[in-house]
Amino acid sequence: MAPFAPGKTVVVSGIQSSGALHIGNYFGAIRQHIALQHAHPSYYFIVNYHAMTTVQDAAQLHAHTLDAAVTYLALGFDPDRSNLFVQSDVPLLNELTWIFFCLTPVSHLEKGVAYKDKVVQGLSPNCGLFNYPVLQAADILIYGGTLVPVGADQRQHIEMTRDIAQRFNNRFGEHFPIPSAYILDSVATVPGIDGRKMSKSYNNAIGIFEEKAALTRRVKRIKTDSTPLEAPKKPDKDNVFALIKLFATPEKQAELREAYLAGGYGYGHAKAELIAMMLDYFGPARERRRELLKDMDYVHDVLRQGARNARVVADACMERVRKLTGLMTTYG
Ligand code: ADP
Repeated sequence: MAPFAPGKTVVVSGIQSSGALHIGNYFGAIRQHIALQHAHPSYYFIVNYHAMTTVQDAAQLHAHTLDAAVTYLALGFDPDRSNLFVQSDVPLLNELTWIFFCLTPVSHLEKGVAYKDKVVQGLSPNCGLFNYPVLQAADILIYGGTLVPVGADQRQHIEMTRDIAQRFNNRFGEHFPIPSAYILDSVATVPGIDGRKMSKSYNNAIGIFEEKAALTRRVKRIKTDSTPLEAPKKPDKDNVFALIKLFATPEKQAELREAYLAGGYGYGHAKAELIAMMLDYFGPARERRRELLKDMDYVHDVLRQGARNARVVADACMERVRKLTGLMTTYG
């Protein structure tokens, strides 16, 4: 497939391997990734360099990376249609990141919402966390990405990627297509059990493949207000209902909305409903996951092939970038 062809749609997106993938990742991103793979060439990568900003334990990083690959395959990723690989299998990415560092004002990164948010949460801001959007820009642009399916929380980072691509093109000559975010308006940022954005970094996530007992414990901890059982409740202000909406059919949603508004329906009832819906929704994928875990050679093969394809595109991109920027190769 020819990269960088004008007018061609190339889908690119990443997912962090900093913990088990959660339902925010699924509804914000993975579901769209799986849906788009049939329409366009696509590159989906497990961003283990990005994950290192928070995970600095080799065994954990390795395990989460493979777990992310298994999760994608279980949820319907088709390696014959699309590329799945591990970010660090394309180390050339770091060269492009450096070039982009030199084009990015520090003041832009200081405004990064994800960075600012993590600082507010008391997480230690290392340089990796601060520079995260620049590596993300390289991730998208090195494969000639034009369409980036992400959750609403990523809107600003994609704006930064567009800005970096434009700066490069203005300074060195037209090279990168300017990508667009693909964000479904129907999916707001999925709340975690504490009501903040669900994230692997906040210990507030509900894993896609959580086993029933663990899932039940997790859902029971979802923060609700103290409205008594018999009193009417406000579905649009409730975290449990926000999650139910992701899984329920429109008819079921309407039925539960009425139950909330009528009173006599408690948060405990809603939580039990949510657990049943989740187990049902991910049931077939859970089964596929069990099978895949018995055949990790296959999972490694998928990642290897994805990386091979990605490296061909990244090599071609960087050869041109070096020429455009005046970086030289004096050997070979
Ligand atoms: P995390 O914050 O859990 O580490 P990532 O940074 O790996 O998530 O994000 C991977 C994808 O999942 C991105 O496209 C992001 O927009 C999406 N995503 C992450 N959390 C949420 C959420 N709570 N709601 C909707 N989408 C989300």
